[in-house]
Amino acid sequence: SDGPADAVLQGLDPEQREVATTLRGPVCVLAGAGTGKTRAITHRIAYGVRSGQLAPASVLAVTFTNRAAGEMRGRLRALGAGGVQARTFHSAALRQLQYFWPRAIGGEPPRLVERKVQLVAEAGARCGIRLDRGELRDATGEIEWAKATQTVPADYPAAARKAGREAPRDPAEIAQLYGMYEQLKRDRVLIDFEDVLLLTVGILQDRHDIAEQVRSQYQHFVVDEYQDVSPLQQRLLELWLGDRDSLCVVGDAGQTIYSFTGATPDHLLDFRRRYPHATVVRLVRDYRSTPQVVHLANGLLAQASGRAADHRLELVSQREPGPDPVYAEYADEPAEAEGTAARIRDLIAAGVPAGEIAVLFRINAQSEVYEQALADAGVPYRLRGAERFFERAEVQRALLALRGAARSAGNDPLLDDVVELGAQVRAVLGSTGWSPEPPAGSGAVREQWESLAALVRLAEDFARARPGATLADLAVELEERRAAQHAPTVQGVTLASLHAAKGLEWDAVFLVGLTDGMLPITYAKTDEQVEEERRLLYVGVTRARHHLTLSWALSRSPGGRPSRVPSRFLNGLRPGSGGRASRPGSGGGAGVERGPARGRARRGPVRCRVCGRTLTEAGEMKLMRCEDCPSDMDEGLYERLRAWRGIQAGRQGLPA
Ligand code: ATP
Ligand code: MG
Repeated sequence: SDGPADAVLQGLDPEQREVATTLRGPVCVLAGAGTGKTRAITHRIAYGVRSGQLAPASVLAVTFTNRAAGEMRGRLRALGAGGVQARTFHSAALRQLQYFWPRAIGGEPPRLVERKVQLVAEAGARCGIRLDRGELRDATGEIEWAKATQTVPADYPAAARKAGREAPRDPAEIAQLYGMYEQLKRDRVLIDFEDVLLLTVGILQDRHDIAEQVRSQYQHFVVDEYQDVSPLQQRLLELWLGDRDSLCVVGDAGQTIYSFTGATPDHLLDFRRRYPHATVVRLVRDYRSTPQVVHLANGLLAQASGRAADHRLELVSQREPGPDPVYAEYADEPAEAEGTAARIRDLIAAGVPAGEIAVLFRINAQSEVYEQALADAGVPYRLRGAERFFERAEVQRALLALRGAARSAGNDPLLDDVVELGAQVRAVLGSTGWSPEPPAGSGAVREQWESLAALVRLAEDFARARPGATLADLAVELEERRAAQHAPTVQGVTLASLHAAKGLEWDAVFLVGLTDGMLPITYAKTDEQVEEERRLLYVGVTRARHHLTLSWALSRSPGGRPSRVPSRFLNGLRPGSGGRASRPGSGGGAGVERGPARGRARRGPVRCRVCGRTLTEAGEMKLMRCEDCPSDMDEGLYERLRAWRGIQAGRQGLPA
């Protein structure tokens, strides 16, 4: 009887069931977040195995992260299909490479590069290209991108320009570095992760006997999150398949958030063209989130444009109504973090487990205030996919420098009435190569800069709260903060970047720092880049099962003038911003909550933020900067002007 197999189909809706029972030929599932794509393919494999139609060892399920692969193995085991391989592209390829190396190439398989960035640095030294730590990481990212898109060194400059890459150096230099890095690896018989894919592709292309052997083992392929497949991974998949077509892919073009690594939703969207006889299934029932969360997600989809958006499908929530999304506006960042921590404490008190709560942000440098606020509130937390703030190398180096400087600075107060405090800290950081102006472009250099800028803001807050404090006091304060931050725990609230949150879900999600400039992030310039930022917000919103809070702060530090506006992506979606209401039938009752400012409002004369002169001209006071001062200390003139205008415009729409 096929009773035990049918049991696997119990928890599926008719479309998911079609996916699960279509075990022959190509299958493509195009569906939005939370519609049960991952569930459908897991059950498909289990159904195939339990009904005897798929031999467990003949199935290869591929995902993109080790965590997702581990989770899938667990689910398969629970469904009675434990013998199936569920791996990342890399781990599947590595196994094959190690197995076939002696026969295809001879000798022992090479070792994996352990310290890739160090090897890139060495390549730089050989070419006479000196790179600092951040540039090194970014250059390494460029090399990875080039390899993932099958771009050889000579073609890198043209390809990088075409793709709008923001290389940390002249593309010709990156190309040279890339070539030298490859040579060093060859000389030392080392391979990196991209080589694992490249070499496996090479062997399968060249050696038909080996390709046939792999094909005789694996006959059925399943790929999750297919919108993020790189051209190289796609090539590998095609070689695994040969001329067969037992391939099931699932994905959501609306969640493409890794195109900077070479990933592209084209393979997903062109699946029908490649396999005209494919079974294409669309899922629209959202099983994850409440109607309120789904309504907001649909609103974001409706505003999206670009290729992914042409394929959007409205989601229909299958869950009971829950609370409306909360929109919370704060005067400054510390207030936002404290307000978030307070809400989290309330949720935990109301019975939501800490492990079911997440705080998601755009860049990892934003985590510091949240780590601090949660630590202050006694809430355990863990960071996913990022180093904890005080453990980041650049922050540790800065702390060392500050401690060193504190010995020589003696009793000089951090803040006097002419110089902003930040000035002393900035001077110390300046001696380590940091500059108040953000570096151009994105990537590791920018992240590093943001971490140090967060440190400067921390110092500024501290000096304001403790007039007369010295650099030594600051060093002690920072040391205490570092020590107070909790050790990572498994049960804690998750702090993660939006990128790291993909595929996951929580009962309560806090999307924080939703200002224009952070989401979309300032360096997203082209329409395509801005669209990817919007998709990031969509990914964030759709992680929430029940509670969703979206917040932003109008200024960075306590007492600072408002210089920021809520993310433009929320226009027409958040209450009071015009356009559609926050949800159907909300009766207009929902509004933007305003958290209390943490700091005292700035009193006394308004001073130029650059030279400290008291300002009298209205125009200058708005900018907090004299006309004569060439540039602002922390933000460009243009940016401040634009932000200020935006606030004025935004205010008119907001409830008083
Ligand atoms: P994402 O795009 O975020 O990866 P997804 O489409 O892969 O989402 P899943 O993670 O598979 O969605 O499912 C979302 C949630 O809905 C999970 O908690 C899953 O168990 C639940 N779910 C999916 N399908 C059903 C169903 N038919 N009945 C009940 N719950 C379901
Ligand atoms: Mg999924």
